[in-house]
Amino acid sequence: MDLLRIDEPGEAISPTFLLDAKVRELAGIEADSPRILSVYLDLTIRDAPRRERARIDAKTGLARVDRVAEAREAGGIDRGVAKVDVDKARERIGSWTAPGAQAPGRGVAMFLSAEDGLDLLVAAPEPFTNEVRASRGAVLVPLVRLMDEGSDAVLVLVDRDRSRIVHFALGAEVATMHLEFDVAPRHRQGDWGNRTRPRYSGGALNAPGLAAQGPWSRQPTPHYQEHMESEVAEHHRALAEEVMRLYAGIGTPRLVVHGPEGVKEAFERHLPDEVRGRVEHVRGLDPAHPQGDLRAWITRYVAEKRSQDVRDGLARAHGAALAGGHGAMEPQAVLDALQGRRVMDLYFDAQMVAEARQCSDCGHLQLAGTECAACGADTGSVDLGEAMVRLALEQDAGVHPVEGDETMRRLQAVARLRF
Ligand SMILES: [Zn+2]
Repeated sequence: MDLLRIDEPGEAISPTFLLDAKVRELAGIEADSPRILSVYLDLTIRDAPRRERARIDAKTGLARVDRVAEAREAGGIDRGVAKVDVDKARERIGSWTAPGAQAPGRGVAMFLSAEDGLDLLVAAPEPFTNEVRASRGAVLVPLVRLMDEGSDAVLVLVDRDRSRIVHFALGAEVATMHLEFDVAPRHRQGDWGNRTRPRYSGGALNAPGLAAQGPWSRQPTPHYQEHMESEVAEHHRALAEEVMRLYAGIGTPRLVVHGPEGVKEAFERHLPDEVRGRVEHVRGLDPAHPQGDLRAWITRYVAEKRSQDVRDGLARAHGAALAGGHGAMEPQAVLDALQGRRVMDLYFDAQMVAEARQCSDCGHLQLAGTECAACGADTGSVDLGEAMVRLALEQDAGVHPVEGDETMRRLQAVARLRF
């Protein structure tokens, strides 16, 4: 079973990063019959009614999928979802929803197709809306929303002698590293405090420059101050090294730095230019906050920043589309751009419920018509949002669900184009 969990020691891979790779991989799987079973569940622990609803929704959904498959088989066509996949899903859901059972996450997504060798289970920190569907490709929009909300953030709480790096991913704290040097015992200590998910090896303990400490005088000589400053600089250099290790391992997270004026600038001088240019400074954060408050703070901060980034990006793409530049808007133009593999960023109305037609022969997508505009073969109905998201993921475009935006609701889809 392919569970989205990271146990590789010594590797700083974020769950968000891994999920992104898995979702793009999933987007590339397209079966020739509706045999991919996608199941999304809300398995909120300690909420018996919600888990009971998940159990009933899943049971009903699986029974419906099975009935459709049987009818297809009786009609002499490929039954689509295999019996073995339905049974497997049923069995797992039963084991997660039984009284006293442990669920792998508050939200669980499952993608099964025995024929395609597909068995992916994603355990998420947030619940999904219950949904069971059989289609030619995996249902991806809920995963994309999770991915988008959970962009990684690395928070650096810097000071002269003691600093903290906290890594947040998918709305949860992944790991915290404390890096400090104490004047009295004349040595520095750094270690990762593991949280619930990925494990980091004791990277800091093995980091070069941390173990070896030369002897130095504690007397307040003129050298003392100088020495203190070089110790602080050494601390900041080691901190920057750890930040870069993390930064490189998880792609390009938000990098948020907080610390006294002068101190944070001194630290940032140790970062490479392109990373320093991305540092975000924040106010109103108390480093003495308990970890739980820090988590709530950073989650709110990232959500606000993300929605601002999406609004800005959408406005730019919309402007380009209106000006006839590198932008496209409304389903037809966006679908054309996606099929021409010209999309760099896709913005779509997260609430969109619309249908498209896909050719059963060449796979061409169009908004209407039972006959394929490209080859003349028959078309079948598909979910427009899902189809657009799949194409965008396949061409490595950014995928941004937009909620509660009037322009977006009216246009349904907007794209920033590569050319
Ligand atoms: Zn066709």
